[in-house]
Amino acid sequence: MDRCDALIVGGGPAGSTCARELVRQGLDVVVLDQARFPRDKTCAGWITPQVVESLQLDLADYARHGTLQPLTGFDCGVLGGPLTTVRYPDAVSFGIRRSEFDHYLLQRCGARLALETPFANAVRQAGQWIVNEHWQTPLLIGAGGHFCPVAKLLGADVGRGEQAFVARETEFPMDRALALNSRVSATRGELLFCDDLAGYGWCLRKGNYLNVGLGRDTTTGLGDDLQRLLRWLVSTQRVPLQQWPRFRGHAYLAYNRSRRPLVADGCLLVGDAAGMACERSGEGIRPAVESALLAAVAVGEARGDYRATGLASYIALVEARFGPRQHHPLPTVGLPRTPRWRRAAGRWLVSTEPFLRHVVLDRFFLQRAASALHPAAGTLKPENFS
Ligand SMILES: Cc1cc2nc3c(=O)[nH]c(=O)nc-3n(C[C@H](O)[C@H](O)[C@H](O)COP(=O)(O)OP(=O)(O)OC[C@H]3O[C@@H](n4cnc5c(N)ncnc54)[C@H](O)[C@@H]3O)c2cc1C
Repeated sequence: MDRCDALIVGGGPAGSTCARELVRQGLDVVVLDQARFPRDKTCAGWITPQVVESLQLDLADYARHGTLQPLTGFDCGVLGGPLTTVRYPDAVSFGIRRSEFDHYLLQRCGARLALETPFANAVRQAGQWIVNEHWQTPLLIGAGGHFCPVAKLLGADVGRGEQAFVARETEFPMDRALALNSRVSATRGELLFCDDLAGYGWCLRKGNYLNVGLGRDTTTGLGDDLQRLLRWLVSTQRVPLQQWPRFRGHAYLAYNRSRRPLVADGCLLVGDAAGMACERSGEGIRPAVESALLAAVAVGEARGDYRATGLASYIALVEARFGPRQHHPLPTVGLPRTPRWRRAAGRWLVSTEPFLRHVVLDRFFLQRAASALHPAAGTLKPENFS
């Protein structure tokens, strides 16, 4: 039996961040992932400055390893309609490629890595977990994304009876002709809201790569809206392609829709496994990183008492940061679902620069008022969350 202080299932941003912090606390940590890294993840690959800060990313070093596209604005509008440009004096977001980003974070986390190793089972015996009949650990952390097997182990209704965001995306290198002819800005992201404002499409240029996708609050309308987006991108010469690469789909939960447990005896869930994404924007990387940092704080505070009661400070920290879990059944991607006249008003509003800048971007998508959680600066206390 291979013993460790903590075993984390999933080596995405949540898993690697949690691992790094626990290693810093002096724990012997194993990260288990079924994938071979670098591996891809269905994602637009857009991160906010708070992520950079919380991860203590050295951007110059990162840029030597992979694509890093600073974004200084957005072109926004309703799908098929005119676009409004919102510019900022500095970078307000960054485009990264998940294959590179996740690999970079995992390599630097300092944990023992068990890759290409699917989680098979975990049995609880005398205050310990026996995982895959190979590892013995007092602490099991589920960071396996939306379909995390540890979330299932804790009884989460994964994939059934959950109101998840659904999104489809493709990322591909531009050939010379496309790079020359594409009208997609190199430094601004494009956000195209669906007619009913219950989702949005995007087109993001990251160095020589393009990422195109669309997400909605339900699968209804997803295919049709995606086709409209692609036709529009072609007809406006943004992405003049004859044939699109394959699109991949994935689902994940917004924080206010998740009923997944955060804590059980000897166990915590972080990131998509817990259902942490921002309900307005669908941003999932920042909440994954932040929940992982908070989980590590709770583990430190538990001082080896990993019963659910000992780990309960994680729930308090998460609720202090993200608000009480409310379990709203309402769809909330983009703008809240509203009666027809209010949607018409909403469509008009998302064509006006002040509303786009101050509400849609600054408040919903960039959350500019929210300071980053910084592990080394003593800000991981509820009174410092803003
Ligand atoms: C189309 C789309 C676009 C998105 N765009 C953005 C965006 O631009 N910005 C943003 O902030 N968020 C975005 N998100 C959300 C974001 O991708 C997720 O919230 C984020 O990846 C969550 O990170 P995580 O570490 O919790 O899980 P993941 O990144 O999903 O990592 C989970 C890991 O667990 C491993 N795993 C799973 N099952 C097992 C198993 N049985 N055994 C072993 N290992 C396992 C997987 O291989 C994976 O490496 C998007 C999501 C989608 C679907």
